[in-house]
Amino acid sequence: MKTCTKCGASKDPADFYAHLRAKDGLQSNCKACMREASKRRGKALTAAHRAARGVHLLAAPLAPGHKLCSVCGAEKVLEEFYFHLRADNGRAARCRDCAKQAGKRRYKEAVAAHIAQGGQHG
Ligand SMILES: [Zn+2]
Ligand SMILES: [Zn+2]
Repeated sequence: MKTCTKCGASKDPADFYAHLRAKDGLQSNCKACMREASKRRGKALTAAHRAARGVHLLAAPLAPGHKLCSVCGAEKVLEEFYFHLRADNGRAARCRDCAKQAGKRRYKEAVAAHIAQGGQHG
């Protein structure tokens, strides 16, 4: 029998992984403890990765006086965004191009709706 230095349990040598440089040729922690440790390490790694990615997103290199359009994702100068007093930087979330596109689409939809509602007269 061998005692695990981590959980203190006496276990069969078969419950320990091999460790060539150890005196008895076995790891000092049992297999269960090793698995637990590697699992925890994996979780810690993913958490670190996620945190790093979050930081990266927050620290996206935006040139001063620029804003990211929430629709096309392009980085444009503030002048390319319409004023929007209640928004960040006092500018709309989408660029003028995207706002124009949306306006056009809305106009077409309104016209189509009007025709559908019996624009037959005339
Ligand atoms: Zn153990
Ligand atoms: Zn845009």
